[in-house]
Amino acid sequence: MIVDRQGRRFRNLRVSLTSACNYACTYCVPNGKRLVAAQDELSAEAMVRGVAYLIEAAGIERLRITGGEPLVSPRLETFLRGVTPLGLDDISLTTNGQLLSRKLPLLLEAGIRRLNVSLDTLDPDHFRQIARGGDLATVLDGLERARAAGLKIKVNMVPLRGQNLDQVLPLLDYCLERGFELRFIELMRMGHLASDANGFLTQFVSLPQLLQVIGEHYEFLQTGAPVDATALRYEIPGQGVFGVIANESVPFCRTCSRLRLSSTGWLHGCLSSSNRHFVGDLLDKPRHQALPALQRLLVKALGDKQEVAFSGGATVMKIIGG
Ligand code: SAM
Repeated sequence: MIVDRQGRRFRNLRVSLTSACNYACTYCVPNGKRLVAAQDELSAEAMVRGVAYLIEAAGIERLRITGGEPLVSPRLETFLRGVTPLGLDDISLTTNGQLLSRKLPLLLEAGIRRLNVSLDTLDPDHFRQIARGGDLATVLDGLERARAAGLKIKVNMVPLRGQNLDQVLPLLDYCLERGFELRFIELMRMGHLASDANGFLTQFVSLPQLLQVIGEHYEFLQTGAPVDATALRYEIPGQGVFGVIANESVPFCRTCSRLRLSSTGWLHGCLSSSNRHFVGDLLDKPRHQALPALQRLLVKALGDKQEVAFSGGATVMKIIGG
C-alpha cells in the first residue's frame, strides 16, 4: 500500500465520467458556455479497467461517479455495469439532478443507493441565474422520485454572498422535512477563482458566517464523523443533520484520502495542485504491465497532496468534478 509521511493513503476515488455538463454554473464556468465532452475521453471499458487497477494498486475502497454531469454521459450504463461487480464498499454518484427522473431506473438497477444532488437555490429565477441551464422543477421531481425509491440523498449547496445566502434556511427546511442531509460546500478557489481573489472574496461565505445564519433559527451541535471525512456534521436534535465542507475555514488536507481520475485519463492526487499524471495509455495494457507503472505514478500523486491547507488551484471543477 502506498502511504505518505503523514500516514495518508488513497481510499476514495472520484471518476469524472465526462467533462460535458448541461449547466454552466456562475462559480464554475466563467464564460457561461455549457461544456461539451472532451474529444479524447476514455471509453467506458478503459475507465472500468482504471477503477479495477486502482483498487489493486492504491487500495481504493469507495467510488464516487461525477463529472461534468455524469448523467449526460453515454458511457454511464456500461461504466456502471463494469464497476458494480468490482467489490467496492460503496459506489455513489454526484449529479445536478436534471436527468435524475429519467436515469433513476438505471441507477437503481446498478445498485446505486446513495446520491449527492447539487442544488443551490429553491427559487426558480435564481436557479436560472446561477445554473444557467436546466429547470428547478425537474430537479425537485427527480429528488422526490429518488426519495420514494429509498435512495439516501445528500443535497450539495454552495452558499454565495449576494446570490443565494437567503436560500440557506429554505434549503435546510426542505432537506430536514424529507430526510435529506444538506451539505454546504464553502466556495473553493478553483479554476478562474484561483486567480481572481476579489471575485472569490466577494462571494465567499465562511463556516462561522454560515453557522451564524443557521443559528438564528436552529439549535445544533457538532456530531462525530469518520476520520477521513471531508464534512463537519451538525445535528439539529429531533430534526436531522447537516454538514459543511469547509475547505477554507477548517482544511482537511491532513486526512485527505481522495484520488481523482479525469474522463481523459489523468490522475489528480490533490485539487490544490496543478500536477496531474497521465494514465490513459496504461489502461489499455494488461494488468502485469499496467500495475507497476501505475504504482509509480500513484506515489507522485500522493506526493502532490498539501501538507496542511487547501490553497485552491487552476484545475477546473467542471473537468474534475469536485
Ligand atoms: N454535475 C455534477 C453536480 O452538479 O453535482 C457533478 C460535478 S460538480 C463540479 C460537483 C460539485 O462541485 C457541485 O456540487 C458544485 O456545486 C461544486 N463546485 C463547483 N465549483 C465549485 C467551487 N469553485 N467551489 C465549491 N464547489 C464547487
